[in-house]
Amino acid sequence: MSGSLQSRVLRGPAATLTGNPFEQPSRGCLAYHDDALVVIEEGIITAFGPHAELKDALPAGSEVTHYPDHLIVPGFIDAHVHYPQMQVIGAYGTQLLEWLETYTFPAEMSFADAGHARRVAHLFLRELLRAGTTTAMVYCTVHSQSVEAFFHEAARFDARMIAGKVLMDRHAPAGLLDTAQRGYDESLALIERWHGRGRALYCVTPRFAPTSTEAQLDAAGALLKTRDGLFLQTHLCENPAEIEWVRELFPARASYLDVYAHAGLVGPRSMFGHGIHLHEGDFCTCHQAGAALAHCPTSNLFLGSGLFRLFEAVDPRRPVMVGLGTDVGGGTSLSQLQTLNEAYKVAAMVGHKLDAVQGFYLATLGGARALGLDGKIGQLAPGMEADLCVLDPRATPFMAFRAGYCASIEEVLFMLMTLGDDRAVRATYVAGRCVYDRDREDDPFRPAIPSEE
Ligand SMILES: [Zn+2]
Repeated sequence: MSGSLQSRVLRGPAATLTGNPFEQPSRGCLAYHDDALVVIEEGIITAFGPHAELKDALPAGSEVTHYPDHLIVPGFIDAHVHYPQMQVIGAYGTQLLEWLETYTFPAEMSFADAGHARRVAHLFLRELLRAGTTTAMVYCTVHSQSVEAFFHEAARFDARMIAGKVLMDRHAPAGLLDTAQRGYDESLALIERWHGRGRALYCVTPRFAPTSTEAQLDAAGALLKTRDGLFLQTHLCENPAEIEWVRELFPARASYLDVYAHAGLVGPRSMFGHGIHLHEGDFCTCHQAGAALAHCPTSNLFLGSGLFRLFEAVDPRRPVMVGLGTDVGGGTSLSQLQTLNEAYKVAAMVGHKLDAVQGFYLATLGGARALGLDGKIGQLAPGMEADLCVLDPRATPFMAFRAGYCASIEEVLFMLMTLGDDRAVRATYVAGRCVYDRDREDDPFRPAIPSEE
């Protein structure tokens, strides 16, 4: 209508979730158009629908990018990932507690070097975008500069990212420890600097109960009250040895989750990683509090942690919101397609079938709801921030062959979540700008905003 020079239009097959397929039949929760237009002005979707209906109302001077034979979907949302662990992904042979000692802590020590933090943040953001992920909830390290490096890199792309400084004041190497007071002060400084700056959002990040004293968990609860809209992330009930350790460290608490509840950490915008070994009472607590769980199947399989009971968590009688996490480096891929591949198998191992609409819900709208960011991201709809992923169902000769036998959009989506990975991401759009194009011959990453540094 405005004829703004900022307007951009994507054309092609497009699919978006419109409802919760864990509470209603999947078929009614997906909107699909085989020839759609996504109209974007100044980073916001202003119209979405069939080409035939919208083509005559396009703003004058619109630049149309056509993706025939592709599939435009909302950008993926990764609800749990550690960017400092890029260098230990695929490291051999351990379960959670030994994994932390052997691989994670030494890797995180190297972030004392701000240059290293910048190099890894640079790689991590590009790998996320290559995988079609446009929002992630990210653990940094105990070092403030790890958060600075991450948010600076995210700002180059104007990406909606959530991250925070890890809080640890015990049971880790001396070089990775803060104190309750220092962790509070450094986190507060980062909150003041980054929370709500551009699209950045801050997340208070105690690693998990064993590496924080009660005083530090209480300080984390106090931090959450310092600004509106802050997030909380930590780990919960991932591994039996970890759970037993928490029982020993906090004998007065009714459960692992109760340790966090006691510190005021269980509420809306709280994201608990894993939650594999939860009891019914814990699910009820999460439901009542509006807290969410991050399902991280590749990590849970790789570290031998266990099988998350997704369908029990989302039980419509007291649904707990669930997002999909890669949990790199415990997880083995930054691709949400590969993560869905494993989520399907984990569900199958505990007697359920995760259909394609349910899978894409977890990776888009469901993740947005779990983060309290629905209304901003996770759907193709007017008013939403224009974070998009253009998938290529024929990305490889084998996928092209297999796609020829798909008779419905559900079959295409399921094929993508079984066979797809970063190769199936043709392009990624952040705030309406193409920030990654697989087939661009020069730099496939063209940052939307120049770096400040
Ligand atoms: Zn994790």
